[in-house]
Order: sequence, then structure tokens, then C-alpha cells
Amino acid sequence: MFSAIRPRLASAVVRPAALAALRPSLLRETVARFAQEQILPKVAQMDEAEKLDKEVLQGLFDNGLMGIEIESKYNGSEASFMSAILAVEEIAKVDPSVAVLCDVHNTLVNTVFNKYASDDIKERYLPRLATDTVGSFCLTESGSGSDAFALQTRAVKDGDDYIINGSKMWISNSGEAEIFLVFANLAPEKGYKGITCFVVDKSMGVKVGKKEAKLGIRSSSTCALSFDDVRVPSKNVLGEIGKGYKYAIEILNEGRIGIAAQMVGLSQGVFDATMPYLFQRKQFGNYIGHFQAMQHQYAQAAVDIEAARLLTYNAARLKEEGKSFVKEAAMAKLYASQVAERTASRCIEWAGGIGFTRDFPAEKFFRDCKIGAIYEGTSNIQLQTIAKILEKQYSA
Ligand SMILES: Cc1cc2nc3c(=O)[nH]c(=O)nc-3n(C[C@H](O)[C@H](O)[C@H](O)COP(=O)(O)OP(=O)(O)OC[C@H]3O[C@@H](n4cnc5c(N)ncnc54)[C@H](O)[C@@H]3O)c2cc1C
Repeated sequence: MFSAIRPRLASAVVRPAALAALRPSLLRETVARFAQEQILPKVAQMDEAEKLDKEVLQGLFDNGLMGIEIESKYNGSEASFMSAILAVEEIAKVDPSVAVLCDVHNTLVNTVFNKYASDDIKERYLPRLATDTVGSFCLTESGSGSDAFALQTRAVKDGDDYIINGSKMWISNSGEAEIFLVFANLAPEKGYKGITCFVVDKSMGVKVGKKEAKLGIRSSSTCALSFDDVRVPSKNVLGEIGKGYKYAIEILNEGRIGIAAQMVGLSQGVFDATMPYLFQRKQFGNYIGHFQAMQHQYAQAAVDIEAARLLTYNAARLKEEGKSFVKEAAMAKLYASQVAERTASRCIEWAGGIGFTRDFPAEKFFRDCKIGAIYEGTSNIQLQTIAKILEKQYSA
């Protein structure tokens, strides 16, 4: 069965429907080849220009990597959550900016549609999301970050429509997106229980602000959005009115495993890019990788990366098996982002002066890693989530 697929893999393009049939090891190999052939040559230029290359985006769609868990009847790849995690990890080894685009689109946006949307919404939007249209997940606002449900964007019923007014901040993929999942409060008097999720097409009047100039993941677009009397038909309410907060919590719990995978991929990517140098560079008549002080550091880094990977895969496995995974997802994201910072920082040191230059890849990975401790819940928020679960467990 797999030999029939293999020849096509040689060109690093696999038809979306075939993605579901791939064993994890083959899927990993396919995505790795795509990343090496189609992303790697453009990484530095995309980072410098702070812009995603259109062909890279097209490649993600062509390879079925933008509809990983979407059913094949909607033109998706109908693969598993673990497949999405492996794809994000592999892409992040080469470019964490492209990885976050793929991650947000798959594990946040597509998952909201897959889990909570009506058949009508699925039929109208999933084929586009799987084949040619980028989506954004719009929760955060200038006044509501960690305290996400203090959001101020409002929706008001007007005949058969809703009118949305407000603004969002820090929205990933918003430079490319045409479909926006917008969380707005329809009944502020009910507090967070008024929060409702709307599917908003850009053409309905979403205004996309200037792209943020960032420290890292620079080719991933992050923009502010504004909604001035944006009219959305009631058939575009996603799921139940007032359940938006619940959807956001549930999806972000899962999404964190994707960010953990991004950080694992980043750590492995910077490690792989740096290690060969340790056996090319000589000082005191020896390869620097032969000094025991260096050996202990890279051995420790390899252990850290493997531990972060196993935390991430374990959280994904628990989620797939329908078991509780919230604590494990928070642990994976927290730890993987810490490992990414440690590993990228160490790799720069191991390469000495060269490591500090833009010619050596560690520098970009170092800038890219910092976001892991911020988005989809800061490190403090992950610790708080873990602590709350432990408190419940031990005080019962
Ligand atoms: C590049 C990028 C992409 C993003 N993409 C998206 C996206 O696609 N969609 C989206 O909706 N949002 C997105 N975000 C927003 C992101 O999720 C928030 O930035 C994040 O949740 C933190 O919110 P904040 O920036 O307002 O920080 P704040 O909440 O103001 O936090 C500032 C500091 O205070 C600490 N803090 C806050 N509350 C507590 C507490 N209770 N206990 C202890 N410490 C606390 C935090 O840990 C942090 O260190 C993105 C952000 C960035 C930077």
C-alpha cells in the first residue's frame, strides 16, 4: 500500500486524501521533505522581508497540510490530531513562522469548525479552509489577553443578522486570512456567558490593521483587526449562542499541544543545525565537540528535547483517546517552550562568534523561540492551570 504512495513522495507533494493513509513515520518523512525542499530555501528571505512567500502557502495547501483533520468529503486530508502535531513539529524544525501558520489554521480554526459547526457551516467553509483559504482565530483584544473573557467586542441582533463592533489584537495569519472566527459578546449582562463565536468573511467588512514588527516568527503575520458595524448573517453563528467561552477554552487546551510541537520542532531544528559545527571547529588542537564540558551540554540538550517531545506526544495521545489532557497539555507547552529557549541559547554559545551572526541559523531560532512562552496562554497561565488541577486533586 505504501509503495504505491512512495513514488509520488519523491516530489514532496502528496495528494491530501493520501495523507490520511500515511503511517506516522512516513507522514513525518513527507512533511520533512516538503519543508527541506520548499520552505528552507526561502526562510532567510521571508524573515528579512517579514512576509510569507506565496508559494510556501500554496505548497501547504497542495500537500494537504491545511486540512489535516478535515474530512475527505470536504476535500480535507482526514488524518489524525497526532498527524497535525507531527506536521507542525517537522515544519518548525525548518521555520517556526510557517509552523505557526499551519498550527493555528489546523489546531484552532479547523478544529472549531470540525467540533462545533453545523453541517451548513461546514459545507460552506471547510472545503475552502482545506484547499485555498487561510483562517484566523480572533479572541485577544488590547484590554483582554490572559484575561481573555473580559473581551469588549460586541454583537447586537438586527433582524436576521448580527452587527459586530470592536477590535482584536495580535491575530496570527490575519495578513493572509479570508475567514475569521470572531469571539464577541452578545449579552454583556451575562458576563462571559454572553460570548458567542461568529464566522466572519473578510468581505463582510473586517478591517486588517498594520502588521506588527516582531522579535521573532517574523514571516507569520500578526495584525490588529477592527469591526465597524460588520453585518454577519445569523446562519454564521458557530455553535450555540453564549457558548463561545467554552469553545475557546476547549480549543486552546488542545491548541497548546500544537505550540508545544512547534517548540519541540524548533529545539530539534536549532540543535541539528548547530551540532555539525562542533565537529568542524577546532580549538586547542581538538574539535570543540570533544571537550567534556561541551559533551555534557549537548547531551543534556538532547535529553531535554526528547523529554519535551514525549510530554507533547503524551498529551496528544491522551487527547486522541478522549482522556483528560488539560494538565498534560499545559505541562507540554510550558516545558517545550523552556527547552526551546535553553536549546537555542546554548546553540548560539556553542558556535561562538559565528553563532551570534545572522549567517548562522541559531540566531533566527533564538528570536523565534520567545513566543512559545507568550501565545496560547503565557507560562504563568500554564503554571496556574497545572496548579489548579493539582490543588483539586490533592485537596479533595
Ligand atoms: C505573535 C503573537 C501571535 C498571537 N496570535 C494570536 C491569535 O492568533 N489569536 C488570539 O486570539 N491571540 C493571539 N495572540 C495573543 C496572545 O495569546 C496573548 O498575547 C497572550 O495570551 C498574553 O496576553 P497579553 O499579551 O495581553 O499579556 P498579559 O495578559 O497582559 O500578560 C502580561 C504578563 O502578566 C502575566 N499575567 C497576567 N495575568 C496573570 C495571572 N493571573 N497570574 C500570573 N501572571 C499573570 C503574564 O503571564 C505575562 O507575563 C498572539 C500574541 C502574539 C504575541
